[in-house]
Amino acid sequence: MPPFEPPRRDALAIPEEVTVTLSQTSQSHDAERELDRMRPPDEARAIVERHLSRMPSELVPLADAAWRILATDIIAPEDHPPFPASTMDGFAVVAEDGSPWREIIGDQHAGHVLDVEVTEGYTVRIMTGAPVPRGANAVVPVEATELAEDHVVIHQEDVRIGANVRPVGSDVRKGDLILPAGTTLGPAEIGLVANMGVNPVAVARRPRVCVLSTGDELVEPGDPLGPGQIRDSNRFSLTTALAAEPCEITFSGKAPDRREELEGFLRERMELDDVIVTSGGVSMGDLDLIKAILFDSEDVTVHFRRLYLKPGKPLNFATRGDTLIFGLPGNPVSSLVTFELFIRPALRRMSGALDVDRPRLRVRLEEENPGSDRVEFQRGIVAAGPDGTLTARSTGRQQSSRLASFLGANALLVIPPRERPYMPGEEISALMLAPPRAAS
Ligand code: AMP
Ligand code: MG
Repeated sequence: MPPFEPPRRDALAIPEEVTVTLSQTSQSHDAERELDRMRPPDEARAIVERHLSRMPSELVPLADAAWRILATDIIAPEDHPPFPASTMDGFAVVAEDGSPWREIIGDQHAGHVLDVEVTEGYTVRIMTGAPVPRGANAVVPVEATELAEDHVVIHQEDVRIGANVRPVGSDVRKGDLILPAGTTLGPAEIGLVANMGVNPVAVARRPRVCVLSTGDELVEPGDPLGPGQIRDSNRFSLTTALAAEPCEITFSGKAPDRREELEGFLRERMELDDVIVTSGGVSMGDLDLIKAILFDSEDVTVHFRRLYLKPGKPLNFATRGDTLIFGLPGNPVSSLVTFELFIRPALRRMSGALDVDRPRLRVRLEEENPGSDRVEFQRGIVAAGPDGTLTARSTGRQQSSRLASFLGANALLVIPPRERPYMPGEEISALMLAPPRAAS
């Protein structure tokens, strides 16, 4: 602990210990007041962004790189296709050759190179993907031909130069930027990386994330419920939400409301993880220990802990070095909404992903909507009409305990606070979690 420097005594000559006590108390009161200032979600998001650090890159074999995020640009090291390739099974010919009869001088399969030259009057039988032999400049598909012993009759009047041939570099040109850093390696992207011969590939290291549900009332799903108990659902919701994001879940578990245990857990995980996600224990109750531990830890800085947001008002955000600590509220909906608004984008930004945010669309309310005194992120259903008009309605009761309010939702409807209710037809914005539904 750094030595405490007592402030200079004032003229009233207050005894030193009293001065110290008063000053500490008022300092921490000021700090707490600032922490408890209700912040708009955008301000909170900006604070989180300021504390993110970029993950270093690592080389992984292509076979293990599915859904990872590219750490460097992929520039084409060569042309693709690297040779003029046939797009059809057929016959490689000289296009300008007018005669329908050609003598077959060889078979050209994919993966081999036949050492022949095609001249007028001759042809090579060729398969899709095989290199077009020297001299030939077009391929006549097999369907337009008729075999006659060692000859073939071409039933096609005009053969265009280049017909059914993919020229060198027609898919990818050497030097082209194929994929920028930050691209998520889905099926097509990883196929292109393989195609370019890049293996292993440099990707962002996945942030290590642990999840802890806190609360004396929590029981393991599958175990019997005692009086006053409920089952821990947040851990499963959060790890499932995390599974779709660029991260590695290093631990998930639950802990009772016991200070030493929670403190021990946080201490240990701060050494191991990039992101710590807890749920519960951040509101105003006397057993809201996560909030207290974070605030009291010398080497942890709490950046905010109250948001002008519904659900999710008591979200705590703290850092220790590069480790981010998100103390999510315990209510199941609040924890998932705050995950969506703060943790998901943080993980994506840390990984250097190009697509950090979900799309926001302007939608028209189908029904009257009361809104609340805070910015509300209601679980909603956005539908697209036949003319492309987007409409939205909420999924029903929006209590932060009602996890079922997420069922069927494809959006979070952003409802700014307002005295009077929102009326049908009014436009609001919707954070899209999935594509709009077709309007029924
Ligand atoms: P807290 O934030 O600890 O005050 O909890 C707020 C509400 O969420 C309480 O009703 C808790 O019982 C409930 N809750 C807390 N943690 C969980 C959890 N892991 N799973 C389900 N409900 C929870
Ligand atoms: Mg609790």
